[in-house]
Amino acid sequence: MEQKSWGIIVETSFGKGYAYICETNYIVSLLPEWYAAIPMEQKEETVRRALEAAGEIIGELPETFVWPLSEKEYIRKLEGEFSSVVLEITQECTLRCEYCIYSGNYENVRVHSSCYMTKEVVKRSLDFYAAHSKNSSKAVVSFYGGEALMRFDIVKYAVSYAREIFRGKELFFRISSNGTTLTASVLEWLNQNEDIEIVITVNGITHDVYRKFPNGDGSLGMIMGNLQIIRQQYPKLWNRVNFLANIVSLQELLELREFYMKEIGKPPLLITGILEYGGNERIEKILQVRDSDEAEKEIYRLYCEKQDSYLKPYFHTEVSEIRNRLIGRREKACQITACCMPFLGSLFISAEGSFGLCERAGIWKHCGDIYKGIDMEYVQKIKQEVIAIFQNRCRECWCQRLCSICFKDFQTMEDGSIELPEVFCQRMRESVKNALGLFCEMRERNPETVNN
Ligand code: SF4
Ligand code: SF4
Ligand code: SF4
Repeated sequence: MEQKSWGIIVETSFGKGYAYICETNYIVSLLPEWYAAIPMEQKEETVRRALEAAGEIIGELPETFVWPLSEKEYIRKLEGEFSSVVLEITQECTLRCEYCIYSGNYENVRVHSSCYMTKEVVKRSLDFYAAHSKNSSKAVVSFYGGEALMRFDIVKYAVSYAREIFRGKELFFRISSNGTTLTASVLEWLNQNEDIEIVITVNGITHDVYRKFPNGDGSLGMIMGNLQIIRQQYPKLWNRVNFLANIVSLQELLELREFYMKEIGKPPLLITGILEYGGNERIEKILQVRDSDEAEKEIYRLYCEKQDSYLKPYFHTEVSEIRNRLIGRREKACQITACCMPFLGSLFISAEGSFGLCERAGIWKHCGDIYKGIDMEYVQKIKQEVIAIFQNRCRECWCQRLCSICFKDFQTMEDGSIELPEVFCQRMRESVKNALGLFCEMRERNPETVNN
């Protein structure tokens, strides 16, 4: 029902209507008196007819979907221009967060285990990455878990080996951490190594509800204590500490904003929701929270009017996509831009050495590993499957030019084929519709921040 190929109507909180037209990527402001006079059940049809009459909609659908690079260019990049590698240093963690993807509360996802990346796997992984990024001037190595710093020895080894093999290149490291493993020796080492950024998850006042130690104790006190030490003793390191946060409601977003302003003093890099797909009844329960209208209004006011920097990490990506969209009639061959071509976005390597596309997409069992290399036959097969799915599903979807569905949303079946659950499309359309509403609201409240 929501999937109308021409586009969609969004309304701002002032009641003004806008039409987003997929064919041209235009957002048309509808005459307020004209729009207000149309009965609710006729709005969609009347607006569409008016846009057709004005020549804004001609009804041409894309004929096909294509990857942005030719086969030759793709292979050339695969051979020597991988952009970054993510190493799953360990599958163990100091915490047992309730909504963790590895908590056992999600279908078909591994659970915490004592498996960690050995030095031999680290070496082979970095050698593979080096061989496939020989034409890049820059290398980025990220450490992921579980809690990567539980194997501090392995992280240190990986950093020193990477420095050896990437000598002469710009080299940058990133560690994802839950903030509980920042011992004196870890902090001293991080302080001395200025090419390492650390990203810590802190969820504000609701942190302890979900982010607990195995004995049930909350982890916020320990993390804030560690952050206090960094601020007092390692002010330079503090500049390299960044944050992530997870929320389940807009009310939590408001509370998070307050917390970060008062207790941390800088906004997180990214604020995300909690994955719903594949979650059991515990995840459903966590996600049951409903937002109040007041919270929504306050968020809109702060974000749209004031461009609040503490709220940007939640809205910014989608709103920026809209702000930076290419205006103009779409091509007959629609280019896939939001979904990376396999391995060109990132290369994820599991503790055992299996390949995946990035930490968000996880392991793709059939993609290959550090011993056999990339299974090119399989990679070509999934590239074609993605085209087929987009071809069937997206040609008539109004969201096709703003959609950011990618491999993280595709599910791999036992036989290695891929599927895109419809629920991801529904959520994507909902989310783009909200972002379009926000963008239009910004245009009304604060026109100089938005130019089209
Ligand atoms: S810290 Fe991260 S890996 Fe560990 S339990 Fe929590 S969400 Fe999972
Ligand atoms: S999030 Fe999606 S587009 Fe980005 S690297 Fe992962 S799979 Fe590719
Ligand atoms: S992948 Fe995106 S564009 Fe395609 S049908 Fe789903 S929501 Fe629409």
